[in-house]
This record gives sequence, structure tokens and C-alpha cells, in this order.
Amino acid sequence: MAEIDRMLLANEEWASRFPGALAARPARAVAVVACMDSRMPLFGLLGLAVGDAHVIRNAGGVVTDDTIRSLTISQHLLGTREIVLVHHTECGLEATTEQAFADQVEQATGHRPPWPVRAFSDVDADVRESMRLLRESPYLLSHEVRGTVYDVATGRLREVV
Ligand SMILES: [Zn+2]
Repeated sequence: MAEIDRMLLANEEWASRFPGALAARPARAVAVVACMDSRMPLFGLLGLAVGDAHVIRNAGGVVTDDTIRSLTISQHLLGTREIVLVHHTECGLEATTEQAFADQVEQATGHRPPWPVRAFSDVDADVRESMRLLRESPYLLSHEVRGTVYDVATGRLREVV
């Protein structure tokens, strides 16, 4: 069975206990930018309910042009004001480098990615860099951003100051 078939079945169960429609504006006026890592169930680990927050995810939870695009829409159209970053231990982006990953893709496909991989070796430094990029973005209404690192071995979230 393909994963989508399992998901469609699971959705029937979800829809049967669906509580009803909610407002599009996140109730807690917060946007979370996080890594796509499969070990981070963000709503559970952050104490969020459906409808509470925007969640923007990518490899590493890094700040790219598309992250800024989503946050700008989140703030200007849907009223969020706080930004919370969630990076984590044992991230896949720590396991490679810009050069090695671009080489790997090029060898497998014949095409070298034109975009940066955004590999990093120090997760705290990467969180600080992401906070800096968001604070410097001229498109956001609010630059209230704080960053965290989630420990995938303990489930604990630690703020990076
Ligand atoms: Zn990651």
C-alpha cells in the first residue's frame, strides 16, 4: 500500500471527529519556522492546538527567500506578530557541507543546484544567524523573534540567547 493510501484511510478517521471550521488567522498570532525533521511533532512539543499558529518548515528550518515570503504573508494578511525558530540536534544539514552535497546531487543527476544548501556545523550559531536575518528583513511588521534548539534525544526545547 502506498503511503498516500494509508493517509487517505487515516483521514477518514480524522474527519469523523473533526471539530469544525476555525478562523484562518492563527489564534495565538505566532508563526513557527522549523526544520522538516520527522522527529519533531511541533504542535505537541510546543503545546499548540489546531488553529493556533502558522508552521513554516524546510530542511534545517533556515531563513530563505521563501521563508520570508511566508512570514510576510503571515504577518501582513493573517495577523501574526511573534516568530519562533525551532532547530534541533542531529540535523541532516550538519551531516553534509555545501560542497559535498552539491557534488552528490551533480554526480547523481548531472545538475548542480544553483541554490545554497545552507549546511551548518554549529546549531546555536545557525539559530542566531536565522534570528539576525529575520530582524534585518525590511518586509516584516514585527521583528519579535526568538530561537530554540530541540533535543531529539530528550524531547527538551532550549532557547538560544
Ligand atoms: Zn533538521
